[in-house]
Amino acid sequence: MSKSRKLLNDCFLHDKDRLRHDDVLQMIKQRIGPIMATETVSLADANGRILAEPIVAPRNVPLSDNAAVDGYAYCHADFESVGGWFEVADRIAAGHARQTPMPKQTAARIFTGAAVPPGLDTIAMQEDCEPHVQNDRPFIAIPPGLKAGANCRKSGEDVLEGTTVLLSGERLRPQDIAAIASLGIAEIAVFQKLKIALISTGDELLRPGAGTTPLPGQVFDTNSAMLKGLLEMVPVKVTDFGVLADDADLIRNTLAQAAGEFDMILTSGGASRGDEDHVIMALDELGQRHLWQLAIKPGRPMTMGQIGDCVFVGLPGNPVAAFVCFLLYVRQIILRLQGCAWRLPSRFPVAANFGIKNKKPDRREFLRGILGQAEGGSLTVTKFDRDGSGLITGLRESDGLIEIPEAATGIHPGEIVDFIPFSEFGILPR
Ligand code: AMP
Ligand code: MG
Repeated sequence: MSKSRKLLNDCFLHDKDRLRHDDVLQMIKQRIGPIMATETVSLADANGRILAEPIVAPRNVPLSDNAAVDGYAYCHADFESVGGWFEVADRIAAGHARQTPMPKQTAARIFTGAAVPPGLDTIAMQEDCEPHVQNDRPFIAIPPGLKAGANCRKSGEDVLEGTTVLLSGERLRPQDIAAIASLGIAEIAVFQKLKIALISTGDELLRPGAGTTPLPGQVFDTNSAMLKGLLEMVPVKVTDFGVLADDADLIRNTLAQAAGEFDMILTSGGASRGDEDHVIMALDELGQRHLWQLAIKPGRPMTMGQIGDCVFVGLPGNPVAAFVCFLLYVRQIILRLQGCAWRLPSRFPVAANFGIKNKKPDRREFLRGILGQAEGGSLTVTKFDRDGSGLITGLRESDGLIEIPEAATGIHPGEIVDFIPFSEFGILPR
């Protein structure tokens, strides 16, 4: 299937020296739309996928009025005249329904989920009722005080026929899939998964593995494994290209080849403007740059562009910067390309259990935050105490990101700060 529309264009151009965080998000929201065609999947494969058609209820859920408890169904209006004493004229188990009206002023033994017979409207719980036998016929004494309609689930009380249950662009969660199943729908249209080429760059990088001993100056490639994990939280297909050396020809040739085969290339490293930063030079030769030099910390050199119809995203090499940029921007870019409705992660106000002085104004900072509890039990957040952007420990020990706005020049202990839990980005809680 062909792509549903041409990727992007140069309308990303802007005259700012450094783009602010909110501007970047606005651009992603307004200028990136679905490029993927749709496919049909069964509900069993739909978790986490992005819906490509609205789901409209073809019928009521539940279909018929049914019992919420095991007990006795009766007509509330008959209660006074029979003094709560009903003959039991039928027995209806779950999955069964009586089509014809019940004999006048009788009750039905009924079980949870069974359709309530025509004419009856109220159900008394079996433990509140007293069965009797009179002249070999079963009777039931129903207690007074029940409201009309008690313990009866109404047809359509969950979903009414004709209701739009889900919109195109919604990301399906298990409960959404339950809702679709409840309508009797087994196959749905979703956006195809983005095919992503994952590339690490750097002469110093060594793939982890048995028997590999790093020489001085070498580091293990952590970004490939980390980004692969982060990509698993969005519906994509990842091909790991491994590590490319800082070699201009190799990088250019690999990017050119990958651009022809993938919907998106995600690189890390080599994204600054140094002599050994060949990734951006290759992008400039092969395609266009749309975004680069963001007014944020960490992650300033993150770059986005395109090579032909292939989206290019270049992350900084530092693992912390790559991680943060992925969460803040790459995830949103990927979701937009796959037709996902726009939703920003929620920020929660939490009291700072730390202070910072001399923050540079004009850039937004994202600190690694560790949640704690004040004496009264209210939440507090501490920042990971070391700032280095290579410290994976800070990512591991933290619960989310503390967002410090551009205008701030510091934080006082006790001040309320914005905290975004990692779970808002789909990362499992510890
Ligand atoms: P670069 O963006 O290439 O200038 O790299 C910045 C820093 O991140 C350097 O210290 C690199 O060694 C480190 N780095 C780059 N790529 C990776 C990677 N895949 N895994 C771990 N560290 C990396
Ligand atoms: Mg490098």
